[in-house]
Amino acid sequence: MSAPAGVLVVGASAAGIATADALRRKGYRDSLTLLGAESHLPYDRPPLSKQVLSGTWEAERVRLRSPEKLAELDADIILGDPAVGLDPATRTVRTASGRVLTAGTIVVATGLRPRTLPGQDGLTGVHVLRTVDDSLALRSALLSATQVVVVGDGVLGTEIAATARGMGADVTLVGPQPVPMASQFGTLVGGLLGELHAERGVRLRLGTAVEGLTGRDGRVTGVRLDTGDELPADVVVVALGAAPATEWLAESGLRLDNGLVCDSRCRAAEGIYSAGDVARWQHDALGVSLRLENRTNATMQANAVAANILGEDQAYSPVPHFWTDQYDTKIQVHGLPTAAAEATIVDGDPADGRFVAMYRRGGAAVGVLGWNMPKQTRLRRGEVVEALSAPAT
Ligand SMILES: Cc1cc2nc3c(=O)[nH]c(=O)nc-3n(C[C@H](O)[C@H](O)[C@H](O)COP(=O)(O)OP(=O)(O)OC[C@H]3O[C@@H](n4cnc5c(N)ncnc54)[C@H](O)[C@@H]3O)c2cc1C
Repeated sequence: MSAPAGVLVVGASAAGIATADALRRKGYRDSLTLLGAESHLPYDRPPLSKQVLSGTWEAERVRLRSPEKLAELDADIILGDPAVGLDPATRTVRTASGRVLTAGTIVVATGLRPRTLPGQDGLTGVHVLRTVDDSLALRSALLSATQVVVVGDGVLGTEIAATARGMGADVTLVGPQPVPMASQFGTLVGGLLGELHAERGVRLRLGTAVEGLTGRDGRVTGVRLDTGDELPADVVVVALGAAPATEWLAESGLRLDNGLVCDSRCRAAEGIYSAGDVARWQHDALGVSLRLENRTNATMQANAVAANILGEDQAYSPVPHFWTDQYDTKIQVHGLPTAAAEATIVDGDPADGRFVAMYRRGGAAVGVLGWNMPKQTRLRRGEVVEALSAPAT
């Protein structure tokens, strides 16, 4: 029996669309199917916590491709029908509506699902932010909110706090870390981020875990902290991170470990690849198994997957890059700065609201972070690239 032809991409968002695009750009002419759980045309997520939430952009502006550009992909695009199972041996995907799709190659690009707090589903006024519908619902709630509590001191929680505050809301940011984004940026830059939020009028309740939500008549009334305090709220945003959307792969026999586990070619099994937030792959240059949740990786990894599907046999070893915009501060990050690395300011001055911080471990540059200094940050990136290109020990 000959192997089935074609590529089926599961997940029709940043990584999925970029995979399809890259395949066509590289000359792939066989059949291509994109399967997505959402009913919307493929759209981008970073503006959902910024321009769409603040109302600066209409929601249509986040579309990743116009209908004309999508048509040019010459792909069968199936939306609003989540995959519910995958059989790697026959490369068959089953969907919620009962479709059975078989392809020579399958790409898993199903992203993440937000984590929730126990009991939040039964309460109105509690929000998560992952989809365009989430963003519009939160925007509408913020417009009439009296007291907003954002639970989560990571990148999404801090962005939402900044945008909500920019809309004039009364905002409290709660989280277990000593300063916002401490695990990603360390205490030096995380401390400066905390100061920025405090200056703009966000109340910080950090170093505090959330025990649960309080409610009355099906509506949220507040957030209960482990200190015993209760923060009153009529809008609560739960931004506690997200888990890889792999539940539909539970019976597949593929290795799942905080993501779909892949080799250095982003291949989970013969004929099965993965890209974007859901993929955990072997980063050869760093010598670690990595999963990245950022927009740049979704595109770059999709390009690598397309190349490997077409036989280029490339290890995917990028220098990670992400950005976050909070108020008028634009933060750019290259490499992997972590709390364990030592951060020093190498350009600019935090007092002027512009600086570059270099992160080193054992003397080697592991990451560089720019705060309103994109050009200087790019210039410093070379040192990180060089260190990452050195063979892993
Ligand atoms: C609010 C917000 C703001 C962000 N801001 C930034 C930023 O400033 N900078 C930055 O670098 N990154 C940012 N990110 C992260 C960035 O958007 C993600 O890294 C990127 O969207 C990942 O793309 P993806 O295609 O892997 O996953 P996703 O964009 O999550 O797409 C996965 C798609 O797969 C679909 N799907 C899930 N399960 C199934 C299934 N069983 N069958 C079919 N389809 C399925 C989902 O519905 C979704 O449409 C932000 C993310 C969010 C949510």
